[in-house]
Amino acid sequence: MYPVYRPYLSGKEQQYVSECLDSSWISSRGDFIRKFEIQFADFVGVRHATTVCNGTVALHLAMLAIGIGPGDEVIVPTLTYVASANMIVQTGATPVFVDSIESTWQIDPSAVKRAITPRTKAVMVVHLYGASCDMEAICKICTEHGLLLIEDCAEAFGTFYRDKHVGTFGDVSTFSFFGNKTITTGEGGMVVSNNAEVLNKAYHLKTQAVSPSQEYWHDTVGYNYRMTNICAAIGFAQLEQANYVLERKQQLAAWYDRYLVDLPVRRQAEPPRSTHSWWLYSILVSQELRDSLRLHLRNRAVETRPLFPPVHAFPHYECGLEFPVAQCISKSGLSLPSYPDLTESDVQIISSKVREFFEVREGCRTEIADCGLTKLVN
Ligand SMILES: *Cc1c(COP(=O)(O)O)cnc(C)c1O
Repeated sequence: MYPVYRPYLSGKEQQYVSECLDSSWISSRGDFIRKFEIQFADFVGVRHATTVCNGTVALHLAMLAIGIGPGDEVIVPTLTYVASANMIVQTGATPVFVDSIESTWQIDPSAVKRAITPRTKAVMVVHLYGASCDMEAICKICTEHGLLLIEDCAEAFGTFYRDKHVGTFGDVSTFSFFGNKTITTGEGGMVVSNNAEVLNKAYHLKTQAVSPSQEYWHDTVGYNYRMTNICAAIGFAQLEQANYVLERKQQLAAWYDRYLVDLPVRRQAEPPRSTHSWWLYSILVSQELRDSLRLHLRNRAVETRPLFPPVHAFPHYECGLEFPVAQCISKSGLSLPSYPDLTESDVQIISSKVREFFEVREGCRTEIADCGLTKLVN
């Protein structure tokens, strides 16, 4: 079976974890925490980084650190993983959903503009599947309207927009190191910012809001969102091979592009002058065929993943609005196996099974999904 993902753990992960065990520094104190944070900040090109125990709480902490709370509205794409919206709710603020761009599947800047109200405090962009959002347009809107910017980079380690790593545009940004993310610590996350005050606030809240000057004195209601030294040891080893992993992923995307070239599938596009990091190589096919293609592949030992359902589709987030592009992308899309160890011959085999699916349907309706608004309105 070709799984959708499998972490690449061929570096010094085991050695560094053993060092934690041998030294007995297994909780959230220990050298690997600091080393991982420094190396990570350096890789991304951001001044400050603090580790947390997963990418979900990273979002919560990031928003608390820039002062998002009850009464605020935060604009977020409906096409995202549910954690982005859940954490807005956890701060007491209200998520305001917007639609996506058809080609890149990312938050639509013109929809953001239309969603601004006097209560809008921030925009949360989510760089989905390894591609970047249109940061020029988003940054311009945030500056013009005095809005804060949060970047959810959980799926975008190694993604660049015009030579800057994503996560360096916002007031605060977050990463996830879950087992299927581009680099992993098992469970883990990071909050980054160029603003020292924001990062100090995040650090304070993640460590039970303990006073920096008085032991066991807590300044406000805090959290324990700390990462363990064991996880940081894995993360530090992952960073040592991050460039290799990212190169492998560029390579596998190029192979898929080559072997799927003349089929009725369309892969996710990236904005001009940006670098896609290919967390998951994902494609759109005709909406009616998506599930049968997934079944065809599953029966041939290829695991796939549907794209996220739009968050407004969950009953507890229902808002009475339609988001036609996001809905269409979600129903037409799937992710193919995208782990760094895949060889060219693996990609060739997987692609040939996709080809086989379309060949038996020759003559049937096999055009690619058109998620463009004009077509949907007609
Ligand atoms: C994975 C992910 C998260 C959450 O990360 P966890 O580490 O699993 O909590 C948040 N947002 C997006 C877009 C993700 O893909």
